Amino acid sequence: VKKIAVLTSGGDSQGMNAAVRAVVRSGLYHGLEVFAVQRGYAGLINDDIREMDLRSVGDIIQRGGTILQSARCKEFMSPEGQQLGADNLRKRGIDGIVVIGGDGSYQGANKLSKLGIKTMGIPGTIDNDIPFTDITIGFDTAVSIVVDAINKLRDTMSSHERSSVVEVMGRHCGDIALYAGLASGAETILVPEVPYDLNEIAARMATNFSQGKRHSIIVVAEGAGKGEDIAAEIMRRNSIEARVTVLGHIQRGGAPTHNDRILASNLGDFAVRKLIEGDSGKSCGIIKGELVATDINTVVNSKKQFNMELYELAKRLSQ
Ligand code: ATP
Repeated sequence: VKKIAVLTSGGDSQGMNAAVRAVVRSGLYHGLEVFAVQRGYAGLINDDIREMDLRSVGDIIQRGGTILQSARCKEFMSPEGQQLGADNLRKRGIDGIVVIGGDGSYQGANKLSKLGIKTMGIPGTIDNDIPFTDITIGFDTAVSIVVDAINKLRDTMSSHERSSVVEVMGRHCGDIALYAGLASGAETILVPEVPYDLNEIAARMATNFSQGKRHSIIVVAEGAGKGEDIAAEIMRRNSIEARVTVLGHIQRGGAPTHNDRILASNLGDFAVRKLIEGDSGKSCGIIKGELVATDINTVVNSKKQFNMELYELAKRLSQ
């Protein structure tokens, strides 16, 4: 490849800018011409494409969101839309593209690959729901934000002998709830991957309070239930006041952690090097510290393995 493009797609995540910077700077370092597509696949269809230089990605490594903006684009789901996108790249001589996004964005990348554009996917999503990588860009920052919020809630909860239900993001993947719950010493972690029994949870909470516990934190992934419903059920069974906090989009904002910036830098550079090697239709990831490229088809047709050992550990330590 001689000319490559980069775009961000789907939900944004902290560290996407660091990944864009890495793709642009690594591409230029290797003597490529690098272009940016604005607003994901929508920009590809609308021909919103501009050439980047070293300075175009200055002062962004520390910023949340994505300077390229993101979009959900229905038109790109159709073969006509995909063809138009590929044509817009080709007319500029762009023969490679790096797509930073979640699994939907990966499906789009796969379509481009089939149309002859060399494509690489980089997992950018706070949910950590992409298989064949230990971690996705934005996850570390999102978990830090949740842990920080729970620290603050703890202070006020223990002053009033209350329990706190914290609803976090994760529709199909409970990783944010699991990692943040373990890191903040939550009593209960509810995730979509593991069924739970509210009677049992309420009974354990009642026992703990009767034995001198002064606060209780339940972290629930949105895919495992609504915070409001769980708090209502706890109050009905235990008469312990349960306050709900829904963290929502706060989890997607703010400066990326150093871990996310380093991950994004590694994956961005790796994706460019893979394109230069002539590789296509792959998702870039990191497994046990090693950079790996896995077939996108395999990635989108697999489910992320839930870390049951970590879940059991959190359970053992929360007695
Ligand atoms: P998140 O995990 O944050 O939801 P995502 O990348 O999964 O991110 P989606 O909205 O599912 O977000 O996908 C982003 C875009 O990718 C869609 O708006 C669409 O343009 C494109 N896309 C999704 N699925 C396909 C598909 N099967 N074929 C072609 N393009 C697709």
